[in-house]
Amino acid sequence: MQPLSYARVSDVESAIALVAGDPGSSFLAGGTTKVDLLRLAVEHNDRLVDINDLPLSDVEELPDGTIRIGALARMSDVARTPIIKERFPGVSEALLLGASEQLRNMASMGGNLCQRVRCTYFRDSVSPCNKREPGSGCSALEGLNRGHAILGVSESCIATHPSDVAVALVAFDAVVHTASLGGRRTIAIDDFYLLPGETPQLEHPLARGELITAIDLPPSPLAAESLYLKFRDRQSYEFALVSVCAALEIEDDVVADVRLALGGVGTKPWRARLAEAELRGAPASAESFTRAASAELAAASPRPGNAFKVALAERAIVRGLHQAMNGRAG
Ligand SMILES: Cc1cc2nc3c(=O)[nH]c(=O)nc-3n(C[C@H](O)[C@H](O)[C@H](O)COP(=O)(O)OP(=O)(O)OC[C@H]3O[C@@H](n4cnc5c(N)ncnc54)[C@H](O)[C@@H]3O)c2cc1C
Ligand code: SF4
Repeated sequence: MQPLSYARVSDVESAIALVAGDPGSSFLAGGTTKVDLLRLAVEHNDRLVDINDLPLSDVEELPDGTIRIGALARMSDVARTPIIKERFPGVSEALLLGASEQLRNMASMGGNLCQRVRCTYFRDSVSPCNKREPGSGCSALEGLNRGHAILGVSESCIATHPSDVAVALVAFDAVVHTASLGGRRTIAIDDFYLLPGETPQLEHPLARGELITAIDLPPSPLAAESLYLKFRDRQSYEFALVSVCAALEIEDDVVADVRLALGGVGTKPWRARLAEAELRGAPASAESFTRAASAELAAASPRPGNAFKVALAERAIVRGLHQAMNGRAG
């Protein structure tokens, strides 16, 4: 039994001050990640600072067309917000394909971005795991690694990032807003996720007590035709083996612009920049899609247990691009 105290705050400054001033404190939003990790003794806190009363739940359009999503907006509310469904269907679909309806009703957007990996060895609280206990080793390298990453891996950690919506946010260059004792700042979503390198315990560039306040989606005309496909062991309530967010703009049968990001294969939500570069200016054809998929996966470093993900990811990219070109039936 671990003693745990609880504080409920109603303004951003108090939330930040409480967590910044006490290494044992942590923010609590929907609790769907945090409470599990405390129960499993993977994380240890002596105080939770409940931020659910903070005024950060709105989804609004700014004058320049940016959509601002409050950090405490619930996954299910964001997925069903008309401007998200119309302008960023790939974001809406990624949200609706995550977790379960009950979880989505509780889970916040800020909490989703900060969720921890699902690696069994990380969550069993006893196996060697560099992310949980730096320097202890990585049990997944020679262990059960079927669900693990093939891109962005290191000899220290091969855990894949589990968020679905973060994949779509990476595809559309979302921006994370934060507030801390040092002031407010913005972080490009791609920089919000750190590669494991030799320090897999560091997942984000956040300071102690730094609070996510909002996520911005800048205007993106091609996002209106975006989609999110998720391939997993069962059809619901399961994390991705591979997922893809895709959007295409085609002019005269040539790819004028493209956004492509992958889930389930990277140690961070993976923007497929090599595939995008291969596609821009290329004919919108099956051959180009296949070539782009191969270009992205050429850097893959699979283990025996997850080698199947290379071909699966290539096929997922090709299917995502076909469907983005031809409509969802594609
Ligand atoms: C059974 C199950 C299945 C799931 N399946 C999926 C899935 O398929 N796809 C998917 O994407 N996700 C999935 N999830 C994960 C789920 O989406 C996350 O647990 C959820 O989004 C976390 O949000 P929360 O508000 O509950 O966060 P909390 O649990 O409250 O917090 C999570 C972490 O974020 C920190 N935090 C929360 N808000 C902020 C903030 N504003 N600023 C800074 N730090 C903050 C907390 O301190 C904590 O460390 C699943 C979860 C479960 C339990
Ligand atoms: S893959 Fe990462 S999270 Fe899993 S055991 Fe290795 S270090 Fe830990």
